Amino acid sequence: MAARTTALSRQGASGDRARRAWSNADVLRRQLREVLEGMAPGVQRCMYCGDSQGSSIDHFEPLSLAPLKAFAWMNHLLACTHCNSNHKRDRFPVDAEGHCLLVDPTSEDPALHLQLVLRTGEYQARTPKGQATIEVFGLARPSLERGRAKAFVRCRSMLRDLGGLIEAGEDDEAMEVAESLRVQPFADVLHAMQTVQDRPGAAVVLGARELESLRWLTVLLA
Ligand SMILES: [Zn+2]
Repeated sequence: MAARTTALSRQGASGDRARRAWSNADVLRRQLREVLEGMAPGVQRCMYCGDSQGSSIDHFEPLSLAPLKAFAWMNHLLACTHCNSNHKRDRFPVDAEGHCLLVDPTSEDPALHLQLVLRTGEYQARTPKGQATIEVFGLARPSLERGRAKAFVRCRSMLRDLGGLIEAGEDDEAMEVAESLRVQPFADVLHAMQTVQDRPGAAVVLGARELESLRWLTVLLA
């Protein structure tokens, strides 16, 4: 990838030239996708919405703005067509100092900028960066909010099931439930539950039984 970046730089990179070089790099694109699929949450989920299958590689910093990042490893994210083509496209908002206003899931903890309301599936912004991220990626689209709210119900139900299996000594089945929880869509919901588990009042939000199982889950998936 470094060689391709050097070549692009030598030719004087423009958005169009970078796009052409990128679309001609069939083999590299396929290899990159395979690596990214292994890193994506759940079963190859979109790194932005976590709902749909991640089917294309998104350039986090768009080629029109940063042609020399066409082949920069950290600039590649696996995204679904909906997030990539309908929402983000070439958008890359920056603040007054020119700093990116989008949460970069490869290097930042989204929880610093975004708070998930588990019962409604709604994301609330903690910072201007969180606000821009919700807007640009369309994180407030109704299908995602409904999906997250249902994922919360599903996670709680599976955690209760997990608790029962552990109590009954059904270790293999417990492990299967734990693994299913790990790879389900909307991995951000389970992640948000894990984030609040040590806070005061966690048992009220998550349920006492579910909270206990959540601790087991951490042990099983360690
Ligand atoms: Zn998506």
